[in-house]
Amino acid sequence: MREEELQKIMDNALEKSRGHIAFGKTADYIPELGCADRNDLGISIYTKDGKRLHSGDSDVRFTVQSISKVVSLAVALERCGFDRVFRKVGMEPSGDAFNSLVKLDLSSNYPFNPMINSGAIAVSSCLVSAVTFDEMLDITRELCLDGGIQINERVYRSEMANIARNKAIAYLLESKGILENDVERSLDFYVRMCSLNVTTDSLAGFGLALASDGIHPQTGRRMLDSDVVQTVKTIMFTCGMYDGAGEFAVRVGIPSKSGVGGGILSVVDREMGIGIYGPALDNKGNSIAGQCMLEDIAKKLKLHIFAADRYR
Ligand code: GLN
Repeated sequence: MREEELQKIMDNALEKSRGHIAFGKTADYIPELGCADRNDLGISIYTKDGKRLHSGDSDVRFTVQSISKVVSLAVALERCGFDRVFRKVGMEPSGDAFNSLVKLDLSSNYPFNPMINSGAIAVSSCLVSAVTFDEMLDITRELCLDGGIQINERVYRSEMANIARNKAIAYLLESKGILENDVERSLDFYVRMCSLNVTTDSLAGFGLALASDGIHPQTGRRMLDSDVVQTVKTIMFTCGMYDGAGEFAVRVGIPSKSGVGGGILSVVDREMGIGIYGPALDNKGNSIAGQCMLEDIAKKLKLHIFAADRYR
């Protein structure tokens, strides 16, 4: 497809989706996230054949939040190995809110998957002794093709000052012998990763790296193992949108991961990475207008993983 055509599809999707912003609201349980401009909306697409397109607020920096769970899972699988990670955390959609601890205490002995808070805190507890935060920052910058990623100190402090729920989850994990390091260190690592500042371009870059099997699109360097990339994309597809993952898979059909900062990372395998920003969220914590944009673009470009006419 020509660049101008793709640009038009993005611009149209953005304008069509704007109306949905009114039905969402910014996350307020981390007070600093409530300061975002709820009307912001942006999208970037990076394709394998070298297109770099943007529409709307693609240069606004926002915190990556739960999308960092994808980086953490990938690095944990590389450094700690598949068996050690999946001894602590499952691979099943939870059907519950991302910060729920109900099932963690009742029916299962370990977190349902690494894309919800309990699972990501368990993964962070493995990472704490395997990698430094500075290394994680470098890895994130490389994966996102964005050397400008930094920690947003205000958001970090705001989340640390309102950490009760995640602390409860972490202590529950500790009581079950799931944490490899103590609660404070594991949580600090987890919150730092959530507080990294990205743009839609960074997410499109990360999406392209995953779509390209973990190979850096510019240098050709392998950044992640093939097996790790395959696992991560599968878990994004089944669990990446929390308790909205099933409906999203039906409507959009692209492996994706959202964050309560308003970001969505999407991976169109072998084709492109898509980055979205729209801080007005639905009641599941997913960008409300962002999901509409993705649905519209998936239809127009036939990107649904099971679209009959995808492989023309
Ligand atoms: N830092 C947020 C939290 O732990 C991330 C949650 C999210 O993006 N869904 O609650």
